[in-house]
Amino acid sequence: MNSDPACGGKRKQALYEYKKVYPRKVYGTFRKLKWAAVVVLLAIWHLAPFLRWDRGPGAPDQAILIDMAGRRAYLYNIEIWPQEVYYLTGLLILAAIGLFFVTALLGRVWCGFACWQTVYTDLFVWIEELFEGDRNERMKRDGQPTSVGKLLRKAGKNVVWAAVSLLTGLAFALYFQDAYQGVRDVFTGQASKATYGFMVLFGGFCWLLAGYAREQVCIYMCPWPRFQAAMFDEDSLVVSYEGWRGEPRGHYKKGHDFAERGHCVDCRLCVHVCPTGIDIRNGSQLACIGCALCVDACNSVMDRFGLPRGLISYDSVDNMAARSKGLPPRIRLIRGRTIGYVAIMGLVGSIMLYTLLNRSTTEVNVLHERSPLYVTLSDGSIRNGYVFKVLNMVRETRSFELKLAGVEGATFSAIGLPTEQDGTRIVLPVAPDAVADFQVFVTARRDALAGKRTDLQFLLTDLETGKTIVHKTMFAGPEQ
Ligand code: SF4
Ligand code: SF4
Repeated sequence: MNSDPACGGKRKQALYEYKKVYPRKVYGTFRKLKWAAVVVLLAIWHLAPFLRWDRGPGAPDQAILIDMAGRRAYLYNIEIWPQEVYYLTGLLILAAIGLFFVTALLGRVWCGFACWQTVYTDLFVWIEELFEGDRNERMKRDGQPTSVGKLLRKAGKNVVWAAVSLLTGLAFALYFQDAYQGVRDVFTGQASKATYGFMVLFGGFCWLLAGYAREQVCIYMCPWPRFQAAMFDEDSLVVSYEGWRGEPRGHYKKGHDFAERGHCVDCRLCVHVCPTGIDIRNGSQLACIGCALCVDACNSVMDRFGLPRGLISYDSVDNMAARSKGLPPRIRLIRGRTIGYVAIMGLVGSIMLYTLLNRSTTEVNVLHERSPLYVTLSDGSIRNGYVFKVLNMVRETRSFELKLAGVEGATFSAIGLPTEQDGTRIVLPVAPDAVADFQVFVTARRDALAGKRTDLQFLLTDLETGKTIVHKTMFAGPEQ
């Protein structure tokens, strides 16, 4: 908010005044690390759908695939069915705790180096520089009236941004279909409307957020900076300006002795390279994404003046305090909170591993027929109907033995299948990778029932492994 009492009592108010950020090119260790992150992460995102994994005949051979039509997700040798979506919850918990852990150790390293927004903004700014030059040239051109040259440069930049965005959208769509076929279909105009729709939708967001919204996403839209402060302590790495060494700041003039003044020469290079346009010399700020580009910038200035590096540093508060007093470095990676995060990750990971290793490949679902609940036969015995569903999660035909327990002398039959051993055993064949439905009728003597509801169990045994699943249900009968 801006108020100006000098304007004859009229208060001029602006809720939000946007100032475009023109980040300047910078060279140094952190810039190199950021480029490495951009290349590695973009390569993973774009190439992962093309990785293959042999699952045998009839199964998709894409290593990472979300098969919406087949209602299945594949991750190498792990196959997730819709009823196992809780694995996704486990993965999300692991990712969240992993992020807390990394933040406690390295501060906002996720925001500065690995976040989708950061990676694409880096790439888009690089493309912008190719067309419009570095900071000063871009600022100057934006201040000039529209010209053919200016329009051509901006159009060229937007065309390349759009191409990158559409490829990003395509990469997203390829996780939902065979990647090789998907690429062929897209470039021959044969892809589905959903694929083109995702390319435009996902790509459109990419173009808008990385091309135009940029730092505003981090400052105003993303909730993560608002609560990550809770994960910091005095041993977490943060980007900070060492005021005790830099102040009093001032432009360097010939003959200045740095022993008698601060080391900051007020060149503002740290501000000019900052992708969010802030001045780190004003202290820690929510808008600082921890990219450490200002560290590279300031180090280059310190080198020029023959001063020690690290006036802006990527360091812990404790270590900085130790350095300011000339004490030995103080770096503590093993602390209460980091141990806690590792313990939670270990626990969640172990539970997930255990459930994956002991995952059942069969599921049983039994629906008791409601109308009628039971039928009295001519000999006085009672009959109940059930729909018996067996899900075979293996890519081979399997045979199961079905038996009854709980109601003395009960017999049963299944439509279309022979009943063996006096009506007490049926063999159910189930096709590979499928759900089989069986209509089952159970008959019991009236004197064997406990009343309106008698407990009944179906025992389903895999004839190959001998594993038995017990499914509890009820047998309905008349009041005794
Ligand atoms: S202040 Fe430094 S670390 Fe923070 S966002 Fe700006 S350049 Fe990156
Ligand atoms: S780059 Fe370093 S010397 Fe220049 S203004 Fe920033 S802190 Fe001061």
